[in-house]
Amino acid sequence: MAGKTSAESMFLRLADALTRSGYSDFFNTLVLELGKILDVEYVLIADTVESPMTARTLALMAHGELLENISYNLKGSPCETVPERDSCAYEGGVAELFPDDHLLTELGVQSYIGMPLLTSDGRKLGILSAMSTDAIQFDELAREVLRIAAAQVGSELERSSQQEQIQALTYRDSLTGLTNRRGLHELLLDHIPATILLADIRRFKTINDVYNSDVGDELLRAVAERMQHYISAETILARLSSDEFAIIPSPADLAEKLTKEQSLSEQAEAYARQIALWFESPVVVDDNEFHLDFTIGCAGQSALTHEHDKQLTGAELLRRASVAVADAKARQQDFAFFNASMMSAMEYRQLLFERFRKALRDEDFQLYFQPVFSLKDRQLVGAEALCRWYDDEFGWISPLDFIAIAETRGLMQNLGDWVVTAACKQLLDWDSSGTPLPGKLAINISNKQIESHDTIQRFERLTEGVDRRRLLLELTETAMMRAPELNLKRIKQLHEASFSWAIDDFGTGYSSLAYLTQLKAAVLKIDRSFVSKIESSQQDETIIQTIIAMAKALQMDVIAEGIESETQLEYLIKSGCHDGQGFLLGRPIPADEFAQIWLSQTSNL
Ligand code: C2E
Ligand code: MG
Ligand code: MG
Repeated sequence: MAGKTSAESMFLRLADALTRSGYSDFFNTLVLELGKILDVEYVLIADTVESPMTARTLALMAHGELLENISYNLKGSPCETVPERDSCAYEGGVAELFPDDHLLTELGVQSYIGMPLLTSDGRKLGILSAMSTDAIQFDELAREVLRIAAAQVGSELERSSQQEQIQALTYRDSLTGLTNRRGLHELLLDHIPATILLADIRRFKTINDVYNSDVGDELLRAVAERMQHYISAETILARLSSDEFAIIPSPADLAEKLTKEQSLSEQAEAYARQIALWFESPVVVDDNEFHLDFTIGCAGQSALTHEHDKQLTGAELLRRASVAVADAKARQQDFAFFNASMMSAMEYRQLLFERFRKALRDEDFQLYFQPVFSLKDRQLVGAEALCRWYDDEFGWISPLDFIAIAETRGLMQNLGDWVVTAACKQLLDWDSSGTPLPGKLAINISNKQIESHDTIQRFERLTEGVDRRRLLLELTETAMMRAPELNLKRIKQLHEASFSWAIDDFGTGYSSLAYLTQLKAAVLKIDRSFVSKIESSQQDETIIQTIIAMAKALQMDVIAEGIESETQLEYLIKSGCHDGQGFLLGRPIPADEFAQIWLSQTSNL
């Protein structure tokens, strides 16, 4: 096939076509381009979801032209043989192999390659196929192109069908049809209840692990149904997370079987006992009997609340109820009613925040540096600055925790400014000690740091005196996708101001593929989760290879993160991944140590 086209330009063309995703002509552009890239006469994208035996084309290209969409019978066609997971190809004589497929005969098709269109959780949505009237061999490159295209079409189909459902999904739990957490929060805005109970199925995770997740899903549906059966129409029932249900009993429901003299907590406890009774008989799923117990946490308006006192908001009650659940779990009790002594979790967060604010004021953070290497020869090619915080009272606190505090409490800009300044200062300090860092110093950035309109000026100011080409700003793919339009705009501006970019923790979804070409990222960092599954997951290995191929085509460098074993290292080298970092090669360490171990060595070379 496309012997005349280099791999590079094939991928570039593909990437170009893929940037159309999100636009109405995406599928059409893609089939036209694929026809040219693969040098075949026919390409189609078909949807097989609604009727498993009929395919409905979403785009159909023949001889470089778009045709009207058609429906065709899958039975007896090569499309029927496209498996759930991988490609299938017939390199010649396909019309004879499938005599019932009249279309093939009519078109004189000789060779066929098909690729399943999958959702992110692996469901087959349809097919992407290419056909030729010549007998051709679909080499690894052609398959790779189709695989990438199919991944993007799959995520596009998923995205558009999700958008339709989004309204419904926003407030409803799709599994049980109950109100979900967001819906409940919405309800609580104008409904302040006396009490909220949270019921958590005990050992649900074990059930889910032992049986398959379909059984788990069925079980959750059955639990929802049973609860609905017992509650009154005025009582609110919601599913908040996998096995956690919220119940807000209507005043009548709460008081029905109870005496007036009981306190709210006694009433709630009595209600919790009722819930246990609802599940006295087992829940049956697929001939399996499940005897379910619940851990129930509850919170209520204070008995001391006077008319003029402020009532607790619904959201606050919900928070307190989950503190009560956690407390009941920790003490292995069936039931707990929130009281002030359980505040510790919340207090801890508040206290931590205050310590954090103080640390920020006193600049009590440190930067550690992790070396980045060229994998083949283990040459140092850069480093990543990672923020560290040691608190006298709490000890070491993970950056994931304190960065979350900074982001939610509006202090990320301040922390980020400190990190950028300190990283630049370190770079210059190493220079002046005669042990300069080779390559780039990577600095992690939160999307909160690039929200404001003076972002560029701020970065220019913070990095004054440092050659910008020696810096690499890292933004995670997830942070990027939180506000793609704004981030894209800022990144473009930063790019124009000569700052280069890495997309951190890349690979958790193909959703941002369309942005990739616009992003002008210099580097893609493959998320640690894929690297850690090398050897154990074929699928993750495929993803790694796809990312590497994609990045190469877009002229981006690839850095693999979290390399912990020689096997992973070898696999990455074999897959063409140039650079990497990880505990195997070097842990994050303080600047002095870093200079001692890694920089003096390079200067000695
Ligand atoms: P990241 O940017 O992906 O950084 C890599 C993380 O992986 C670091 O965790 C590093 O210590 C860890 N790591 C490196 N090699 C290995 C390995 O072989 N195995 C394992 N298991 N882990 C490895 P750390 O330092 O805890 O940082 C976590 C995340 O916090 C970072 O992930 C980054 O997203 C964020 N972060 C750290 N410092 C900053 C900062 O200054 N600003 C911002 N915005 N985020 C930061
Ligand atoms: Mg990073
Ligand atoms: Mg990372």
